[in-house]
Amino acid sequence: MERIIEIEKISFENEYEKSLRPSSWDDYIGQEKIKKNLQVFIQASKKREEALDHVLFFGPPGLGKTTLAYIIANDMGSNIKMTAAPMIEKSGDLAAILTNLEAGDILFIDEIHRLSPAIEEILYPAMEDFRLDIIIGSGPAAQTIKIDLPRFTLIGATTRAGMISSPLRDRFGMHFRLQFYTPEELATIIIRAAKKLDKECHKDAALEMAKRCRGTPRIALRLLKRIRDYADVANEKLITLERSCYGLDELGVNELGFDELDLRFLKILLESKGRPMGLSTMAAALSEDEGTIEDVIEPYLIAKGYIERTARGRIATPKCYDVLKLSNPYSTGLFGLEDE
Ligand code: ADP
Repeated sequence: MERIIEIEKISFENEYEKSLRPSSWDDYIGQEKIKKNLQVFIQASKKREEALDHVLFFGPPGLGKTTLAYIIANDMGSNIKMTAAPMIEKSGDLAAILTNLEAGDILFIDEIHRLSPAIEEILYPAMEDFRLDIIIGSGPAAQTIKIDLPRFTLIGATTRAGMISSPLRDRFGMHFRLQFYTPEELATIIIRAAKKLDKECHKDAALEMAKRCRGTPRIALRLLKRIRDYADVANEKLITLERSCYGLDELGVNELGFDELDLRFLKILLESKGRPMGLSTMAAALSEDEGTIEDVIEPYLIAKGYIERTARGRIATPKCYDVLKLSNPYSTGLFGLEDE
């Protein structure tokens, strides 16, 4: 079965998401502190008629990093060019992108932690001095050609704060870490999106979806898309709580927002009876790659206090045992699980 709450690591635009993507600050719900700061910095740079300083966004996939980049471009009245680090393989790829920029343009690089060290080297002078150093030839005959670049703004997004090299991180003037959304914020996002899709969504129905989407707008919108299908088939213009619950149960999205992969992850952890589990062991047990575990599964489970990352590995917290209704080794003092 398709993983309904799966989130791609690199967010390629699909038509559905594109049509629902907010284009103004008013439409962008939540992340209030980030919004407020960005608005001030944008206003200041517009006043000085300068390009905005480079911006770096951290946070799990689907929380709105790309959307923020679009809104910044809109507010600045700038063009935006989108790319992702895995698409920049050779130094020539980056040189071509940079030399095509115009003054004030915004360059968005998704998954920026995946740039190779050689590409990063080219980016440093481009970010700092708006200069491209191209080396032609090799050995003693090698020559460096310097090309001036227009003043542009680089917006980087990464799901892995820890994996971005510090020289690169330090060249961004602004760093923002996106947070998971509250159910109320997600419900607002769902109700507004439903309206754009020409559907009414009852507040209770939206809240039910909001509770089950791992705090992530992209998942919320995907759930809405499916629930809308159920409502359409039943000829209902209004999405009710009943239809929402029915659809969510049919889709197998559990009440805590866990999907099958989360549950398998937690089950393996709980079966370890309190012993910490290493990342590579978890990856092998789940047949998933380590990146998916670190970027997609764990951030939500950690943020909600179900698991902890320790130096020795991952462990389930008392809350996790309680919620999954398993005997809690922390309270009994025994690391034994009851039979399910
Ligand atoms: P990321 O770049 O972090 O992976 P995106 O910016 O692509 O995430 O967001 C995924 C989808 O969620 C977008 O289509 C957008 O419509 C929606 N979205 C994200 N954040 C918000 C928000 N704060 N308010 C409304 N919609 C949002």
